[in-house]
Amino acid sequence: MQFTGSHILSINQFEQQDVEYLFKVADAMQPYAQREKRTRVLDGAILGNLFFEPSTRTRVSFGCAFNLLGGHVRETTDIKTSSISKGESLYDTARVISGYSDVIAMRHPVAGSVEEFSRASRVPVINAGDGPSEHPSQALLDLYTIRKELGIQEPVASLRIAMVGDLKHGRTVHSLSKLLCLYRNIHFTLVSPRELCMPAEIVDYLRSKGHSVVETDNMQTGLNNNDTVYLTRIQEERFSNQSEADLYRGRFRLNQEIYTAHCKPNTVIMHPLPRDSRAEANELDNDLNQHPSLAIFRQTDNGVLIRMALFALTLGVAEEVHKHVEAVSWFTAKRFRNPPPIPT
Ligand code: ASP
Repeated sequence: MQFTGSHILSINQFEQQDVEYLFKVADAMQPYAQREKRTRVLDGAILGNLFFEPSTRTRVSFGCAFNLLGGHVRETTDIKTSSISKGESLYDTARVISGYSDVIAMRHPVAGSVEEFSRASRVPVINAGDGPSEHPSQALLDLYTIRKELGIQEPVASLRIAMVGDLKHGRTVHSLSKLLCLYRNIHFTLVSPRELCMPAEIVDYLRSKGHSVVETDNMQTGLNNNDTVYLTRIQEERFSNQSEADLYRGRFRLNQEIYTAHCKPNTVIMHPLPRDSRAEANELDNDLNQHPSLAIFRQTDNGVLIRMALFALTLGVAEEVHKHVEAVSWFTAKRFRNPPPIPT
């Protein structure tokens, strides 16, 4: 894959070697994300960060990733504050914003909208989530996290993963399952209410690539014997009415007791976040917060590395990052976690 100048719209664009290269670039971003050093490789570059749907992690981590490479971020959040609410087309918005930016990250509630936008853009566009369709940067950070958590240096093979929750509307599981398809012999256990099962075309695709897929609405058996359990939220914003979403909330929950009873020891616990912590949902209980296998906040940290790598690659500076390095002078979070001993 030619990264420089390319849009990143779907996992379908990637071959295994592209993912492996991207992960190497992400590894090299660690000292910058950890504030051990800083780079100005994108000094002067502008990211147009367009979020037409709610977001915390994706929006902020795309912005921080760009800042960590020395670039500047211009943000539009919410359709109400954009001229799209005055009837402007995606085509016109793309022509305008791509005239102001070097790269664009975009989230939009409609499947296919980011691709439509990219056709009118003069700069690379990264899909930060298009409705229920895809969320490629999330899938990349998820696979990167799975490898780190399981201590796998090589491409994954024979991984056993359970995906749990709203698999119909969850774009993260759509992208992650397609990404895992690039690897060998993956065992998918898809746990969902029948009405919210993984779309048939994705299941067929996984099977056509030789992977094993078990679909069930029984969480207890679904949790057995996996390396990773990937939980998801009921995507209430995709339902036509709230009461329909309420039918499914809280149906599948993971807590310490269920984990101990049904998961293999050390099963990695993942969730793209936000977890719905309201009592009626609570798909991932706080009583697992101190569990060493709970990877959710390492996932979010890894998101910065993956997004830095995507920017460095699409803007063609992945090999130049280290040529623009300076020391960090301020008190950093890392030093805060390991404070120097107090002199006596
Ligand atoms: N943050 C993820 C997404 O944007 C997952 C979620 O919202 O449930 O798709």
